[in-house]
Amino acid sequence: MNEKLTIALTKGRILKETLPLLARAGIESLEDISSSRKLVFETNRHDVQLVILRGTDVPTYVSHGAADMGVVGKDVLMEQGAEGLYEPLDLGIARCSLMTAGPVGWQSNGARIRVATKFVNIAREYFASQGVHVDLIKLYGALELAPIMNLADLIVDIVDTGNTLRANGMEPLQSIATISSRLVVNKAAMRSRYAVITQIIDELTAVLQEGGDAAT
Ligand code: AMP
Repeated sequence: MNEKLTIALTKGRILKETLPLLARAGIESLEDISSSRKLVFETNRHDVQLVILRGTDVPTYVSHGAADMGVVGKDVLMEQGAEGLYEPLDLGIARCSLMTAGPVGWQSNGARIRVATKFVNIAREYFASQGVHVDLIKLYGALELAPIMNLADLIVDIVDTGNTLRANGMEPLQSIATISSRLVVNKAAMRSRYAVITQIIDELTAVLQEGGDAAT
């Protein structure tokens, strides 16, 4: 086992908003992560390292114990399930909504609705809960293109400002879930490295309670 406690992060918005929280909790990378191509970063704490992954890979690394802790969007946890993970803290960052969306003024014509999404499990559950039968089409990106090209009628996607939808002639319809980034912890690590992990969770909890720029 790697002796250092490993925290998995993802580049982009989560990294930008997590690093200030970690810094206030006493953990700082020794190098500038965003301008580096490296994937493993030492920190000012000899017993803690950071690794940079794809967001969708964070639950896999943490649930297998290859990373002890991680920061990941609730959307990813909802889509993939969270087996083998504790989710002790809502960091309240990278907030957005998971929504259905369609072309402006779209109306059902009674035919079975085609829905394009990256989040097929969430969408399947959502439409089933609404009693609506849909055909799900799995895509990996640029979901807004699917209705334009008549691949799908609706999409299920992350919406923040709504600018991406508007730029493509679409509007948000129903909200499925409010999303933010969560701290996740490997269940076995929580027992075997209890002291160091609870210390970091407690520090982060205190930082979030203090509030301030980094947590908003
Ligand atoms: P917006 O145009 O501000 O509504 O942003 C929508 C796009 O940005 C989505 O298609 C997402 O890919 C991405 N996005 C915005 N916020 C987040 C977030 N918190 N987590 C993941 N992706 C996001």
